[in-house]
Amino acid sequence: MSEQSAAWKDDWRDLFRKGVKKVEDLEPFLNAEEMEEARRIEKEFPVRINQYYLNLIEEKGDPIWKQVVPDKLELIDTYGCEDPLDEEGDSPVLNLTHRYPDRVLFYINHQCPIYCRFCTRKRKVGDPHSLPKDEILRGIEYIREHTEIRDIVISGGDALMLSDNRIEWVLQQLRSVSHLEILRIASRIPCALPQRVTPELCEMLRKYHPLYINTHFNHPREVTPEAAKACGMLADAGIPLGCQTVLLKGVNDDPDVMKELMQKLLRIRVKPYYIYQADLVYGTEHFRTTVEKGLEIIRALRGHTSGMAVPHYVIDAPGGGGKIALTPEAVVDWNDDEIVLRNYEGNLYRYPNLNNADDRLSAFNPD
Ligand SMILES: *Cc1c(COP(=O)(O)O)cnc(C)c1O
Ligand code: SF4
Repeated sequence: MSEQSAAWKDDWRDLFRKGVKKVEDLEPFLNAEEMEEARRIEKEFPVRINQYYLNLIEEKGDPIWKQVVPDKLELIDTYGCEDPLDEEGDSPVLNLTHRYPDRVLFYINHQCPIYCRFCTRKRKVGDPHSLPKDEILRGIEYIREHTEIRDIVISGGDALMLSDNRIEWVLQQLRSVSHLEILRIASRIPCALPQRVTPELCEMLRKYHPLYINTHFNHPREVTPEAAKACGMLADAGIPLGCQTVLLKGVNDDPDVMKELMQKLLRIRVKPYYIYQADLVYGTEHFRTTVEKGLEIIRALRGHTSGMAVPHYVIDAPGGGGKIALTPEAVVDWNDDEIVLRNYEGNLYRYPNLNNADDRLSAFNPD
């Protein structure tokens, strides 16, 4: 191992140990009143900002700060509830949500490199206890018994916070299920603690292909040289990378900011996959935008930049309806003769309605 990769390796545990691990560590940044609020919030929602992510903050209240520093508005929320997506309702065994026909969501830990103030699983993250192996095995048993499951999303918490050995044990168990075609890991690590992506981790992960990682960047300033290095290492290990961004008021609810983010992601070999409308999670009302804002952003992307840079804009339907994709209205009229379409510049184009194409063709071939 080169000296440089040795340093990179030691780095992440160190960065994780430093930084903000509890509210009291915020003392240098908050005034007395804000500290009081933060202490009240910590009783409900955990606080963690590792040293790497803390260093990305340039000033109080900036888009990085907002994602991780507690805000008094977290305790005021008129719409939110604890489990708006009814993930518990669709959970046949502990730590597993089976909502769609052929794939499941599986949690194997509750720890994250940072605790995002807008997290959909605010109710779950932060528990420092690691899940016992037999609990994880029960989830895997369920997957083994359900042969229709061909795709698994390992989510969290953040699985990449676990040791290489523990991750490998889970991947081995999953790979022993023959009907599981693809494995996916959802992780904020490449964005929030990229030093965790070590050569050893990549060597291990590449043994379990086809393996995908969907990461989570929300602002162009998160796309640093360190994040680029981590994503490059994962991509070099043959892992296709996607990004699931959350639309957040005051962070990225701006077409120019989103466009810059999507373009920067492609440069570090990450394909934008989803932009999520913020969920109705208790404690996150101050982050929610209108749905119109999401559509405005897609309109500003589609056609104006690489199609590769345009993710699906989705609302995860409250009550467990799953993800529903929204697209700006492109069909202006649809009649028996034609479909009238609007392009990204607002110009109208016509495409014939081919409903009766077979009839017309057979008219040419009477037999
Ligand atoms: C998002 C999600 C998935 C994966 O959905 P894709 O659209 O295939 O990425 C699976 N299960 C649940 C419960 C989910 O919320
Ligand atoms: S890293 Fe993901 S799971 Fe963890 S707090 Fe942030 S959004 Fe939630």
